[in-house]
Amino acid sequence: MARYTAMWIDTHCHLDAPEFGAEHALALAARARAAALDVGRCVIPAVERTNFDTVRSLAHRLGDAYALGIHPLYVPQAQDGDLDALDAALTQHGDDPHLVAVGEIGLDFFVPALCTPAMRERQVFFYRAQLRLARKHGLPVILHVRRSADVLLKHLRELPTSGGIAHAFNGSEQQARAFLDRGFKLGFGGAVTFEAASQLRRLASGLPLDALVLETDSPDIPPQWLYATAAERAAGRAQGINTPVELPRIGAVVAGLRGITVDAMQAATQANAIAALPRLKDLP
Ligand code: ZN
Repeated sequence: MARYTAMWIDTHCHLDAPEFGAEHALALAARARAAALDVGRCVIPAVERTNFDTVRSLAHRLGDAYALGIHPLYVPQAQDGDLDALDAALTQHGDDPHLVAVGEIGLDFFVPALCTPAMRERQVFFYRAQLRLARKHGLPVILHVRRSADVLLKHLRELPTSGGIAHAFNGSEQQARAFLDRGFKLGFGGAVTFEAASQLRRLASGLPLDALVLETDSPDIPPQWLYATAAERAAGRAQGINTPVELPRIGAVVAGLRGITVDAMQAATQANAIAALPRLKDLP
């Protein structure tokens, strides 16, 4: 088996998000603090055509990885031509070792505006087109799964990819197994740190260890220790901004749920991330 320098890998963080301020100042500071906690790699997914260049340059600057794709929440404003732009960008940067996947792509059947029949169809159109691009360019995919696991899987059966990650997974065990059968890993993050998330915690502790990767989904999905309830926010407590700094602590929570050491958790999720996104292995 290959040997790697031991590190945490945050497989999903939007470090270019506006929450991180002008020139990504907060993200750069958080990334440096995360590095001191052995977060060795972050994967920065794109969400729309206009941030393809931003995630690429940020990943290069940080020595991290990126993915290119059109996120389902950005489908309403996306044009058909954005798929051609994605295809061109994947061709242009095909040899870039920092480019590790097509993503973030998928289907969101939670947000009401995205659930009209026309918008569902539009989301499926972009999803299928991007599965084809992933196959064309020989890349895995990073999937956004929200109330959409079965439909995502149906299209994956028709347009198989080389696997990837089902990010922020929160489905049933049966759906989890179906993604694993298709060569995917499942992304666990802040949501699993809440004691009330009993089904998610059952999955995180009961699935085979080689099924799991870790992510923060920064700046979203704060872990329990950063989360301010509506009442606390009303009383003046700010919602904490989630960053890759939180990844080791999230990893420790999952290790605790599984009854394994934090080191074993780090080693397994590192190997799993590399299995899902093979280019991470040779990132300079
Ligand atoms: Zn995301």
